[in-house]
Amino acid sequence: MKVTFPRLGTMHIFCKAIAETAGIPYLVPPLTSRKTLALGVKNSNECICLPFKVILGNFIEALQRGADTIVMVGSGPPCRLGLYDLVHQVILEDLGLHYRWLTIPSRLTWPALMKNHEETKPLRKELTPKNYLTFPYALYIGWRKMLATEHLEQRAMQVRAREVIKGSTQRNLQHVLQLLDEAKGGREITEAVREGERIIQETEQDSGRRPFKVAIVGELYTVMDPEINGGVEQRLGELGVTVTRSSWFSTHINRSLGIGREQRRERLHFYEASKEYLRYDVGAECNVSVGETIVRAQEGYDGVVHLMPFACMPETTAAAVLKQVSKDHHIPVLTLTLDEQDVESRTQTLLEAFVDMLLWRRDKGLAAA
Ligand code: SF4
Repeated sequence: MKVTFPRLGTMHIFCKAIAETAGIPYLVPPLTSRKTLALGVKNSNECICLPFKVILGNFIEALQRGADTIVMVGSGPPCRLGLYDLVHQVILEDLGLHYRWLTIPSRLTWPALMKNHEETKPLRKELTPKNYLTFPYALYIGWRKMLATEHLEQRAMQVRAREVIKGSTQRNLQHVLQLLDEAKGGREITEAVREGERIIQETEQDSGRRPFKVAIVGELYTVMDPEINGGVEQRLGELGVTVTRSSWFSTHINRSLGIGREQRRERLHFYEASKEYLRYDVGAECNVSVGETIVRAQEGYDGVVHLMPFACMPETTAAAVLKQVSKDHHIPVLTLTLDEQDVESRTQTLLEAFVDMLLWRRDKGLAAA
């Protein structure tokens, strides 16, 4: 058995930690690249949304490199993510690739658990008693690494806007994430976090700078994966912006499991705020994108960057609503539609223009106090 999973942001760090700690062989798919995307695009319907194509590309590359078991998160209607696992399987079979499939249910319902039970039957025969015994501890280590990764990324988001040498925060972040990735066991994770905080904080900073405050909202895959969004978070930071986002792995896992009171309360707050414009749940992150923009305007943020994949149904709705939210709540909103084209230079130009506009608003006294 060789397990693989989608390559999304820093997800490989905690997935790898779980597999390694439980002694389960694994293969991390290569970093999402133009080649990954080309494989996904070539083998999918052109109308399907971008994350579908990228994840398909991840799976093809991983299977070609020797993985034989795909672990994929499940979802439900009304979003297309609920169909990803079914359609991916049909395409991979048509391509003649051999694999076993395991869906992690997004909600603990009886049908989902029964499906999971069926899918794990052949896999269970290959697992040893040691794999079973260490699995709970492996989940704990994976969870700790996930929280630690998010914590260090959030620290970097604060520091980046004041860095003196462009790119220095990102270099330091990559280094500390590497330390965290290599950490074995709880104590080493704690040490890696402490060392990581120190390294990020020691990035040379200009304390006289007054960074703008911008929130990134939108479809979770495009918000959380810098390879897909062209490094929006880093680019904004390097333009002197302190970035916030509420979409993290922990947010979505807590939501599915019904734990993490603070994050759930925050999402509920966003959802409630969206009711000014949306009377029902549109699906995926749509209501949260709208509600969070309203809340950030009330909190005095300078702007919002809204990320959406081309052909994403819920975020297309959000984009239309956000035009009105921007006018009503006096907050600039930049919607970036991401597709399979090379977006890097376009993204940079749009972000620079957005930050110039924020500067103009500040100079004219139009920005929030
Ligand atoms: S949220 Fe949008 S991009 Fe994500 S699966 Fe649904 S339709 Fe596709």
